[in-house]
Amino acid sequence: MSEYAFIGNLILTGEIRCKTALHIGGSKDAYEIGGMDNPVIKTMKGMPYIPGSSLKGKLRSLLEWSLGKVTGSETCKCGELGCEICRIFGTSADKKTKFGPTRLVVRDAFLTKDSREELEALGSTTFTEVKTETAIDRLTGKAKDGSLRPIERVPEGTEFNFSMVYSVYKIKDETELRDLEFFPHILDAMALLEDSYLGGMGSRGSGQVEFEKLRLVFRGKDYYLKGEEEKQHTDQVNLRMNSGEREKFIKALHSFLNEGAKDENPGSQA
Ligand SMILES: [Zn+2]
Repeated sequence: MSEYAFIGNLILTGEIRCKTALHIGGSKDAYEIGGMDNPVIKTMKGMPYIPGSSLKGKLRSLLEWSLGKVTGSETCKCGELGCEICRIFGTSADKKTKFGPTRLVVRDAFLTKDSREELEALGSTTFTEVKTETAIDRLTGKAKDGSLRPIERVPEGTEFNFSMVYSVYKIKDETELRDLEFFPHILDAMALLEDSYLGGMGSRGSGQVEFEKLRLVFRGKDYYLKGEEEKQHTDQVNLRMNSGEREKFIKALHSFLNEGAKDENPGSQA
């Protein structure tokens, strides 16, 4: 057995709903001279989206603070076997880790079909709104002169499809399957995000999001190698589990693997 053996992928999908307008900054493109100073990031086709890197970075940061892994303003780069943060989210590319590849991949999240149609029906060609912000003088409470700045945002109520892939490996020196024990941390980070914000201007109301329609499936190694079916987690995926629920959830994750193992060794039943 190699140092790390691939067991399978847990795939979590669902929707991200913007409870308030969202601003994830994009670059002001050369062809858009005279356009917005503070545009949102968009695809080549002009659709706003949530970059996987933005979502992943925010989840990492919130989890890191909650687990007390931030030292000064530095993020964790230890690369140790038992470090949830490094193992789930990765370390810098040049760092040699003891646990192999980064476990979590977060895809870019694009508008749901419904949201796209709704925004189109409103006659919006940009799929966004413009908020004009003013800088307030804290002493007088009045707007500072010349402080008006237009900021582009994705309107409240907009929904995006998201998808994350979490790879599970068995590590030679680990008796337990620690990757499965770590998976609920991703749900913790999502709960933390719901009470925080995504993108810019969060302390001023933007970027409150909610995760909806969560669906979790497991694709074991043989899904890819032998066309075996994926297995779906049948209970609702709960972002706020107490310790009993967490234990039950981890057990359910283990059962995905055990079923697979049974199929592999039909002769091993005594
Ligand atoms: Zn670490």
